[in-house]
Amino acid sequence: MKQLLKGDILKRLMVPPGKKISLKRDYDPGEKLGLDRENATRQLEAGVKQLAELQDKLYAQDTRSVLVIFQAMDAAGKDGTIKHVMSGLNPQGCQVFSFKAPSSEELDHDYLWRCSKALPERGRIGIFNRSYYEEVLVVRVHPEILARQRLPEHLKGKDIWKRRYQEINNFERYLTDNGTTILKFFLNISKAEQKRRFLARIAEPEKNWKFSAADALERAHWDAYMKAYEDCLRHTSTKWAPWYVIPADFKPATRLAVAFVITETLREMGLHYPIVSDAAYAELARVKALLERE
Ligand code: ATP
Ligand code: MG
Repeated sequence: MKQLLKGDILKRLMVPPGKKISLKRDYDPGEKLGLDRENATRQLEAGVKQLAELQDKLYAQDTRSVLVIFQAMDAAGKDGTIKHVMSGLNPQGCQVFSFKAPSSEELDHDYLWRCSKALPERGRIGIFNRSYYEEVLVVRVHPEILARQRLPEHLKGKDIWKRRYQEINNFERYLTDNGTTILKFFLNISKAEQKRRFLARIAEPEKNWKFSAADALERAHWDAYMKAYEDCLRHTSTKWAPWYVIPADFKPATRLAVAFVITETLREMGLHYPIVSDAAYAELARVKALLERE
């Protein structure tokens, strides 16, 4: 994986904190990162193996956790990416939560509540398939959703988005300060590729179940979504919880880039197996002798 995706790739995909970005100008959804289907698959296998080794240490250490957040337009490949990148991991050390439109019980709480309950335990990698970021994306694109939220009216003013960015940044800072490493991926699909994938979902019977007419209708709000994403990425990519914009038109590149960013981040955490004390070593030797004498 290193040979192909090296150098400045992390930096190039990461949104610099505070930078006003243009998704159109700065990020190409069709970028293949120099990969073709075959070498990407091989590299992904190697990457997943490395990831599994790092996960083993994370689990053994049992002090830190990793939260990986996926956000994207429909059909950008969140599910497939999660499936492929996490395929070699120990299921005991991994958890995935998908966040849909909030239930009545969830609406009776603050918007971070349902996500707080789903945070990864120490030693684990937790994946959020959508997240509290929906609160500054779909909710911003559809004012009627905000109108239905059970917030006091005076808290629904225009400044709500800036305030939510701040709340999210503070929340993520708090989690980081308590041992959680946070990574956020925006899978950046083009409108044309989304159309192709929707048509494939209609044409191929085994993909029919994935198609929803509502998703197709959401395309009408594409530009509003892109604007909401740009503003969100700009204000919530932080040193402690960076956003990565991942090209999503070519699936092998999406999967490899995500695997690469997660692996490199875990590597930088300096994970190691718990260090065994002298007393514990002596105990191991004593038990070994006992077993051998049996
Ligand atoms: P996905 O579209 O992620 O593959 P899905 O199609 O299985 O998942 P859906 O039933 O479409 O699941 O649920 C996801 C929908 O819920 C998305 O349209 C998303 O915008 C919406 N959603 C998620 N969180 C919120 C929220 N906090 N407020 C309103 N809508 C939300
Ligand atoms: Mg959906």
